[in-house]
Amino acid sequence: MAWNLADLFTSVQEYESSKGDLAQLLAERADEKRSSESIEFLEELSTRFELLEAYIALSLAHDRSNTYYSNEEQSLLLLNTKIKNIKKQLVRNSDKLSGSDKNIVYAFFVSRLKRVFAHQADEKTESMISDMERINGENWTSLRKIELQKLRSTDDQSLCVIQARQLESEDAVRQNSLLEEIKMCRKAEEVSCRALNAIKAENNMVSKARGHSSAMDMVLHNEGIPFCFISASLASMGKVSKNILSGIAKKQSRIGTDSFKWYNINYISHNQKTLPLSFENAIEVIKKAFHRFHPEAGKMVERSVSHNLINYEKVETKRSGAFCTNVTAKKSTYLMLTYSENLRSYISLAHELGHGFHYSLMNKHGYLANAAPTTLKESVAHLFEILACQELCIQYPEHCQQIYEMQLTSLASTWIDVQSRYLFEKEVFERCSDHYFTPEELTQLMLSKQKEIIGDYENEDAYNPTTWISKPHFYYSEKPYYNFPYMIGRLLSYYLYGRIKDDANFTNELISMLETSGMCLFSESLNKIGINETAPDWSRSENEIVSVINQFSSSINKSF
Ligand SMILES: [Zn+2]
Repeated sequence: MAWNLADLFTSVQEYESSKGDLAQLLAERADEKRSSESIEFLEELSTRFELLEAYIALSLAHDRSNTYYSNEEQSLLLLNTKIKNIKKQLVRNSDKLSGSDKNIVYAFFVSRLKRVFAHQADEKTESMISDMERINGENWTSLRKIELQKLRSTDDQSLCVIQARQLESEDAVRQNSLLEEIKMCRKAEEVSCRALNAIKAENNMVSKARGHSSAMDMVLHNEGIPFCFISASLASMGKVSKNILSGIAKKQSRIGTDSFKWYNINYISHNQKTLPLSFENAIEVIKKAFHRFHPEAGKMVERSVSHNLINYEKVETKRSGAFCTNVTAKKSTYLMLTYSENLRSYISLAHELGHGFHYSLMNKHGYLANAAPTTLKESVAHLFEILACQELCIQYPEHCQQIYEMQLTSLASTWIDVQSRYLFEKEVFERCSDHYFTPEELTQLMLSKQKEIIGDYENEDAYNPTTWISKPHFYYSEKPYYNFPYMIGRLLSYYLYGRIKDDANFTNELISMLETSGMCLFSESLNKIGINETAPDWSRSENEIVSVINQFSSSINKSF
């Protein structure tokens, strides 16, 4: 069902008048130096803005062809820039903050602003950077999108439709659709190549202008994550790589294939129709899983349903994908996905509700304390995927094999697809300042990263070297490295899962860490649950991951 957004604004008129109020507030207070120094004022502006932004983003997600909402999205960007300027002003004057600003949430908020904005260049350079981002980065992203849309109108099938066929049960259909995907992507390689070179060079230049050593350095700095944490995590991923590949090999031999096939990574080889996964039933099982974790989590799922916060039906005009939007002032999280009655949708529902639960915990401390690092947010969502799978196994023990297969699939997709994209992007960043990549070079580079993980195969369908063209994440000009939070989040989720199993008190420890995770550094949050961010010990995660694969393998052996 679509959301009822009356809780945000009862009508477009009410939205318009609230937007007018905010614009006026910004204009009136712009000259009053003292008030723009106050965090209370900033909190008020941000809370008002969050409501406007959520109202438009949600309306647009439900009806992406609506021009009123897409125009409003643009007009809100301008208001946001004004609020951002107040934040910068606040950082400049942070030594003058008044007594009431000194509470712990405010203090952390200011220190985070200081950390991020300490790296802002001087005013002139910053204004050039924002022009550059607006004119180049965003335009390249849009141009590529337009070119892809043109392909859609000349070929009768979109990329999404072709990719969806890689989940179908007939081997030949999956194989052909992969080859078709590669062929179709090649038609967009010229514009994608130009866009990729331009966006990555721009990200590099911005990071240098702000005094960072690289784009990676900038992203990690903003998230508050030390690089050694990433390298230790990658090393740990390497340790279980062979187990994941052998799990995939087991799945492939179950369906009669002996060499590695890219199109089998995400494929679930079981007949999923045997699992009763209507939306209502899925919610019931997920509610049990969340409740088993903690009654408060179960209540959050219940509230999401009773308050109509989940938009799950198939609607032509809806945005694709799944997301979770938090509105602090209403203490509500709005979820969107397109639910099909299969395991993938079930997992996606649990994932988004996991984000929702995390937000509900952070909301207790208000708007200024709800920006946890993405990596941590993803680890929580991934944890609830695992818990939902475990609950499904409890409810339907006769279907465990396909549930283990689903978990293996999620792991394989992170290890192979996401990791190869991370390695690819890292190399592009390292070389793009003085090198222009041709489409052939990019395809070769992606292929080499996929080979690094999977190994060397003769067959052309073992790899998908055009993922650099098909993955929109590479072209989000404002979000470089839109991949490692998913990788590390997956690793961290298995650590959390292992701790929950072994220690009855851990859930409460985890909940109190999550509550404050938007007002603590990433390292502080990790330390609270026993992880050293400079030398993380991932052996618990590795053991849990190996155990999932073993469960899958032995269930296969039993059924032979
Ligand atoms: Zn997520």
